[in-house]
Amino acid sequence: MKHFCLQCDDGTELVHERRDLSIHADEYVDNVAQVSGWHCPVCGECEFDAGEGARYTQALAALRAKANEQRAAAIRATCKNLGLRQAEAGRLLGGGA
Ligand SMILES: [Zn+2]
Repeated sequence: MKHFCLQCDDGTELVHERRDLSIHADEYVDNVAQVSGWHCPVCGECEFDAGEGARYTQALAALRAKANEQRAAAIRATCKNLGLRQAEAGRLLGGGA
């Protein structure tokens, strides 16, 4: 049975295979190895096989957590350099102390 890319929506046929997919969060880039599913050769869209979506989502969540921690550390360092206390930083940046 043929699968067509819903993203391209122009009759592009998907290919069933395992492919390495890159993920991005801020400046971080990682790779989810050998993702099994129907891949679009044009736009990179993927219809995951069973379990592969969860594996991809977990890898992306881990990378985003790493990026968020890096961003928080950068904000803490900037506040320290500027001599801002938590309450002052919260007022300036939003999101509370
Ligand atoms: Zn496509």
